Amino acid sequence: MKTLIRNAKIIDSLGNVIEDGDILFDETGILEIGRINEESTADRIIDGSGKTVLPGFIDCHVHPAELCAEDEITVAYHAYRGTMALTRSGITTLRSVGTKYNADVRLRDMIESGQADGPRIKAAGEPICITCGHCEEIGMPCDTVGETLKAARTLCRKRVDWLKMMPTAGVLGVGPSTEIQLSKEQIEAVISVGRAFATPTCAHLMNYEALEFCVEAGLTCVEHGYDMDERIARRMVELGTWYIPTATVTLNESTYIKPTNKHEEELVEKAAAAQQKVRNALKIAIREGVKMAVGTDTGCPFTDPEHYAYATELYLYNISGMEPMDILKAATIRGAELLGIDSETGTLEVGKCADIVVLDGDPLADVGACRNVRYTFCRGKLLYHNA
Ligand SMILES: [Zn+2]
Repeated sequence: MKTLIRNAKIIDSLGNVIEDGDILFDETGILEIGRINEESTADRIIDGSGKTVLPGFIDCHVHPAELCAEDEITVAYHAYRGTMALTRSGITTLRSVGTKYNADVRLRDMIESGQADGPRIKAAGEPICITCGHCEEIGMPCDTVGETLKAARTLCRKRVDWLKMMPTAGVLGVGPSTEIQLSKEQIEAVISVGRAFATPTCAHLMNYEALEFCVEAGLTCVEHGYDMDERIARRMVELGTWYIPTATVTLNESTYIKPTNKHEEELVEKAAAAQQKVRNALKIAIREGVKMAVGTDTGCPFTDPEHYAYATELYLYNISGMEPMDILKAATIRGAELLGIDSETGTLEVGKCADIVVLDGDPLADVGACRNVRYTFCRGKLLYHNA
């Protein structure tokens, strides 16, 4: 089905902006961009006046099944529902960094093969953690180097796209979020398996020492990294380490959770403290030029599209010193680079996949416009329309 969007502002994520242009695409990809005078060949025509057309957004830190750890069928249901819900935020690709039973891997394959419609998925399956550690309920608990090697190799055999590990505790869970959980030898084991199987590695990091160790050990991508300082940021630039700050999650948790018991009170306190730290880390990462893409930690409390997690993440980059054009690149082409799919998606170019988001307003004038998602197309198919 050919779709033509006319008279829209078009931002291609290569640095070009067309103030008033047209774009034609179908399921095979983007067919034309510029001034198009062949309305008759389009099956659907959308008036783009007052709207902006961008490459679909990429969320590099999602738990599509939330932290659901029930039976396989329930997890699969939540994974699909959570994945589809992201189209409301304009998301056309996501990286799943922790899903029980590797339901994300199976869903990825179903979407790739056309058995199911949905955003493109890059999947890490079950994260590597410790017994009684952060995310144990959805992860593969490992307490020795041998168990860690076996878990990482098993995940690679199951064809995960990423290896995710939990070197530290987190905001959700009992006790301080900065506690170190995986040993240095276990972290090295995961990274060595990643190298052997050409599988990139990412790590949930809420402690300075663990963060520094992972960066020096050759981790591909830091998640959260709330303790970052200038020294580590510079090392990340030198080593080409990526950074996904997930700044929204602790803002939304500390804003929307209304504690009814001691545990929830502690959770809100931890989230508020983590929010202060991540705002500092964000400023440092932006100033030092660390490679960044966008991740929300959707799946945690109050990070769903109804709470505008993705647009809020972009807003937090903006008030931490990133220019709107760079934010839109982080949300699109940078995410595609991190996920190794920049030849397929991440920019608006003839021949690329028609992963497209249409917003009301102009996000270059006000990044808040990223809240106003009107249409989301994944591979040319309309999967969300806010009428
Ligand atoms: Zn997470």
